[in-house]
Amino acid sequence: MRIHLSALGCRLNEAELEQWASSFTRAGDQIATDPDEADVLVMNTCAVTREAVRKSRQKLQSLQRANPLAKLVVSGCYSELTTSSELAELGVDLVVPNTEKDNLVPLTRLAFHQPDMPQAATQPNATALFTRNRHRAFIKIQDGCRYRCTFCIVTVARGAERSRAVHDIVEEVRQLSSNDVKEIVLTGVHVGGYGSDLDTDLESLVRALLDDTDIPRIRFASVEPWDLSDEFMRLFENERVQPHMHLPLQSGSDTVLRRMARRCKTDDFNRLTTTLREAVPGFNITTDIIAGFPGETDQEWQDSLTFIQTQAFGHIHAFTYSEREGTKAASLPDPVPTAVRQQRSKQLHQLGEQLKQQQLAQSLGTQAAVLWERGKQVESPVGEPLWRHQGYTPNYQRVVTHSSTNLANRITHTRLERVDNGKLQGVVL
Ligand code: SF4
Repeated sequence: MRIHLSALGCRLNEAELEQWASSFTRAGDQIATDPDEADVLVMNTCAVTREAVRKSRQKLQSLQRANPLAKLVVSGCYSELTTSSELAELGVDLVVPNTEKDNLVPLTRLAFHQPDMPQAATQPNATALFTRNRHRAFIKIQDGCRYRCTFCIVTVARGAERSRAVHDIVEEVRQLSSNDVKEIVLTGVHVGGYGSDLDTDLESLVRALLDDTDIPRIRFASVEPWDLSDEFMRLFENERVQPHMHLPLQSGSDTVLRRMARRCKTDDFNRLTTTLREAVPGFNITTDIIAGFPGETDQEWQDSLTFIQTQAFGHIHAFTYSEREGTKAASLPDPVPTAVRQQRSKQLHQLGEQLKQQQLAQSLGTQAAVLWERGKQVESPVGEPLWRHQGYTPNYQRVVTHSSTNLANRITHTRLERVDNGKLQGVVL
């Protein structure tokens, strides 16, 4: 995450800022000097005088205006003494009480950032992958997993595969659609295994959703890159099935994949991504990679980076390996030193950013049907009402636009015009 920090008031507030900056950096986040470049804005407020209160309010408003899409975190005396409704009006997302100031960094990361290893590596956290809002709903279609990847605690924690009945899921989606939800995301621990206990499969479920509901957009959260039939691939011929899949690769080295007990080696993965991209040009593939798995040699790491580069991922969730008690991987020999894990993770972030920018550049000049989320009113240079919205293309690229009308929950044809600060800027047609 990129963090912008600011403070008002006493020396102590300034000193805390320093501490937070170094804790965020140690945790792998970057400090942004400009609020517009940050994902999270942290402000240490003050209330020692009435003037300090006024300035704290003013500063929060200006941070919010500078970057309405960033998360706003406040701490300090003003946030302590003011009401939560006033803070909510100022767009504050998280308040850290003075007594918890020492924990501001972990609390912020917990609220807005994935932990180093996802809770159920790699039941990649759907909420981290997809923003949750009124127009997008997550539908849990199954639980449990029959496999035994060596880093994963899921099979121990979540047991055998259990799927929800098709008619039950269809009914839920119908309800959501009648409440104006425009997009559903199918989630589970092992989504590709859906129906193994009910004598059905994922493809049949999606066909039923297409036939028996009028939900405009269907997405998949994270799907293990195996157990996907040719019939499944053909689902993407229907435009309501969105051309994006999050396929956790975990490593681009076959020997590491073997130690992880993954069922998909690099050749299989490449075949899968090639098929998807041939089916729908611009198909977006995102992934999870673990850096520093036990025994990962320099050569394996280099092989991994080389393969990852060929896959043109739209986004990489980079996880620094950490031992999880109860998994087989935790007792594997030759653990990678922590500093090397972190250095690899950093390299992976850089590669991920580079691949993402390449993908954004390829989208420029194209048009896409963007589903807009709730916007924020911003000041217009000519005094007219102006809304700033973010939304997502079918292949899950984030787009920002300014519009004189409120576009919330509308799907509009949009031209993807340019990239500013790493974000696609669109013009509604
Ligand atoms: S396939 Fe592997 S990583 Fe995925 S949930 Fe099952 S055991 Fe865990």
